[in-house]
Amino acid sequence: MGTALSASRCRYHPGRDGVGVCMRCRTVICPECTTRFDGINHCAVCVAELTRGVESQRGEVGMGWRLAGALLLYGVLALGLWGVLHMMFFW
Ligand SMILES: [Zn+2]
Ligand SMILES: [Zn+2]
Repeated sequence: MGTALSASRCRYHPGRDGVGVCMRCRTVICPECTTRFDGINHCAVCVAELTRGVESQRGEVGMGWRLAGALLLYGVLALGLWGVLHMMFFW
C-alpha cells in the first residue's frame, strides 16, 4: 500500500503532492521544487546541473550551428559558382 500514491508525491517532499514533472529527468516535483529554466520546468538538481554546464553546452551548440552555417555557405557558393560557369560556357 502506498506505492501507487508515491508516484504522485514530490520526490524531495514526500508529504506534498507532486504537481509537475521535471522535463529533464522526469522526476515528480511540487510547485516549490519546480524551477523554470529556459521556459521549461526543471527540478532543483537539474537546474543546478544545467547552470553549471551551461557554458560548455552553449559552446558545443554554437560550434554545431557554425559548422552547419559554413556548410550552407559553401553550398550556396558552389551553386553560385556553378551558375556563373554555366552562364560563361553556355551563354
Ligand atoms: Zn530533473
Ligand atoms: Zn518539493
